[in-house]
Amino acid sequence: MNSFEEKIQSLQKGAVAVIGIPLDENSSFLRGAAQGPPRIREVLLSGSSNMYTELGIDLGKTPGWTDIGDLELGRGLDALKRIETTVSAILARDTRVLSLGGDHSITLPIMKAHAKKYKPLTILHVDAHPDTYDVYDGNRFSHACPFARIMEEGLAERLVQVGVRTMNLHQRQQAERFGIEVIEMKDWSTDKVPKLEGPIYLSLDLDGLDPAFAPGVSHHEPGGLSTRDVLRIVHALPADLVGADIVEFNPSRDSVGVTAMVAAKFYKELVGHMLRPTPAQKS
Ligand code: MN
Ligand code: MN
Repeated sequence: MNSFEEKIQSLQKGAVAVIGIPLDENSSFLRGAAQGPPRIREVLLSGSSNMYTELGIDLGKTPGWTDIGDLELGRGLDALKRIETTVSAILARDTRVLSLGGDHSITLPIMKAHAKKYKPLTILHVDAHPDTYDVYDGNRFSHACPFARIMEEGLAERLVQVGVRTMNLHQRQQAERFGIEVIEMKDWSTDKVPKLEGPIYLSLDLDGLDPAFAPGVSHHEPGGLSTRDVLRIVHALPADLVGADIVEFNPSRDSVGVTAMVAAKFYKELVGHMLRPTPAQKS
C-alpha cells in the first residue's frame, strides 16, 4: 500500500479530503492544466494571505480536512477509471472530496463515484462552456463532453449551469435533450444566484470567470463572472454540499499568479463551507 492509499484509509468520518488530479490529456486546445494542483497548494500556503474563510473559519486551526496529495495516473480510460475508484474509496470513508484539476474531463469519473452514493444529486456547474458536446475532436471523454456523459448516464437528477457564453446550436439541442437549466452569462445578475437544495455537487471551471479575473485558463472567454460573483454562489450553497472540483487552472497562462490565488481562495471557501456545522449538528 502506498502512502496515498494509507492516507485514504486514515481519513476520519466526516472529514474533507482534498486531492489533486494532474490530468490534461483530454484538453482540446492547450495542455497545462495537469500542472495546476501543486501551484494552487503553493500559493495557499505561501503566507501571502491567512487561512481564514470569509465566513470566519480558520482552516489553520480547524481539524477535519486534509490534503492527501496528487493521484498517480496512467493514460486514457485507465486514468479516468483510476479517478473513479480513488474517489469511490474516499467517499466510502464517509468523507467529502474537493478535487483540484486537471481539465474538466476529470468530473465524469468523479460524478460516477458520487452517483453511487447520492441520489438524487444536483450539480451546479460554473463554466464559460456547457461542456455537453456529444463528441469533440473524436474524443467522447474530451473536456468539452463530460456533462453529456453525466446526463446520458443519469448520474445527476438536475444540472444547473451558470456563466455559459459559448452556446452553439448543438449545445442548445443538448441542453433541451437533457433538461439542463442554463443561466447564460448574458442574462446574469447577482439576483440570479441559484438557490438549490442538496445533496449538491459544485463543478467549478475557472474559465467561467472573466479572463480579467482569472487569466490562467486555456480558453479565454471574455464577458464572464467576477471572483465576487463566484464567491456569492459558493456562500449561497446549501449545507449539504457533498463535493466540489476546481478545474481548468493552467499555470502556463497565469503570468502574475493571480489565477492560482483565485483558485486557492475558492479552495479555502469550499473547504470551510463543507466544514460548517449543519443545522442538525448545531441544535
Ligand atoms: Mn469546462
Ligand atoms: Mn470552460
